[in-house]
Amino acid sequence: FWQTCSAQLELELTPQQYSAWIKPLTVLDYEDGKVRIAAPNRFKLDWVKTQFASRITALASQYWEMPVEVQFVLDPKLMAPKKSAANGVAAPAVNGAAAEPYTGMPESIPQGLPKQPLREQSRVNPDLTFDSFVTGKANQLARAAAIQVANNPGVSYNPLFFYGGVGLGKTHLIHAIGNQVMADQPGARIRYIHAEQYVRDVVTAYQRKGFDEFKHYYHSLDLLLIDDIQFFGGKSRTQEEFFYAFEALIAAKKQIIITSDTYPKEITGMDDRLISRFDSGLTVAIEPPELEMRVAILLKKASSEGVTLNDDVAFFVAKHLRSNVRELEGALRKILAYSRFHGRDITIDIVKEALKDLLSVQNRQISVENIQKTVADFYNIKVADMYSKRRPANIARPRQIAMYLSKELTQKSLPEIGELFGGRDHTTVLHAVRKIAQDRAKSAECNHELHVLEQTLKG
Ligand code: ADP
Ligand code: MG
Repeated sequence: FWQTCSAQLELELTPQQYSAWIKPLTVLDYEDGKVRIAAPNRFKLDWVKTQFASRITALASQYWEMPVEVQFVLDPKLMAPKKSAANGVAAPAVNGAAAEPYTGMPESIPQGLPKQPLREQSRVNPDLTFDSFVTGKANQLARAAAIQVANNPGVSYNPLFFYGGVGLGKTHLIHAIGNQVMADQPGARIRYIHAEQYVRDVVTAYQRKGFDEFKHYYHSLDLLLIDDIQFFGGKSRTQEEFFYAFEALIAAKKQIIITSDTYPKEITGMDDRLISRFDSGLTVAIEPPELEMRVAILLKKASSEGVTLNDDVAFFVAKHLRSNVRELEGALRKILAYSRFHGRDITIDIVKEALKDLLSVQNRQISVENIQKTVADFYNIKVADMYSKRRPANIARPRQIAMYLSKELTQKSLPEIGELFGGRDHTTVLHAVRKIAQDRAKSAECNHELHVLEQTLKG
């Protein structure tokens, strides 16, 4: 029976699924229309019961040409001998086995699978959808790619890699993909995980020798959403483990979506092998929102709180807070709380009071032009060299420093800065920012120069 049944399942499932879940099963016995199938551990037992029980039951009934009951049990060879002796039963049935929780699994891997719906296992936040995601120039490419991949997971861009600064909507966007795939394919095994949690899980799996389950879990997903992968930097065991999962999923045409605060090549301490894999799909930037988008976000968030914001108020806030969406949300929360507390309508005056601290910081605006002039003076070069294509080191280095300071001290996006430096590509700017940040960390002299420049610019 098992030969026939497993051969059939091998045809129906992906090779990964088959070898992870079906191959380890063994048939214990068959009697009176009842077959007992053993799984090597609790995790697999639970998974097989939820995912494959009905199919295996159907195949068994087909094979014996009568209704057959299939019972899944833990492999008796692995059961504690004391237990079997105590109740005289060689293989406790499913219910009995539940008393022995499997402890080898990292915390984030779903346990007690029969009780936990796929929705919860996925850790996808139902509130973060495409509907609640406001689009503008800054994120329209990213959103388009996300929608395309959500509509055809595994077949268009794989992996899909989003990068951008904090609070720009990376996490929101990958949850939105998860939500849509879940709505379209309710049976899909989806998993959102933050890279830090993944790192912790690798450590736990390592300590508990639980790598088999770890692998089987991750290698058999339909959609893996992994957030803030820059946290893998310098963690070689994690990267190795992730590399296997990555290869398995891509080979099985399962979709992987990754986010990071910088583009793949700039992630420090990341294995070249992984970087080139990341590059093999589509990499899309998410930029800081432009004014109109910031206004739209404020209006939308306010209305979802049941508050109508006047346009002039929304524009006022959007003009003054330019860095990211999270900051806008925080500001809006403050404004709403302030107006409720004082029982007053939201006007620009109220906003000024509510955001006093935030606005005073924003007022000391430093411009890119300002930075270019200050840096050029400091290094005794011409301001025009900031935009020129000339690359001798005595010019290239101050130019990189000016780009770095522009990113640090202004709200300009990378493309905007590139534009102001003679139409350079945003990747050039990012490279400069990273390079100077690294030098600064390594060299006290460099750090001191930058400090002097910053003080000069801030007046
Ligand atoms: P990131 O992961 O890039 O740091 P998040 O996705 O956590 O940013 O976004 C920060 C907050 O801003 C979240 O509450 C998110 O819902 C919201 N947000 C970000 N981008 C948008 C957007 N385009 N439309 C609506 N809300 C957004
Ligand atoms: Mg995030």
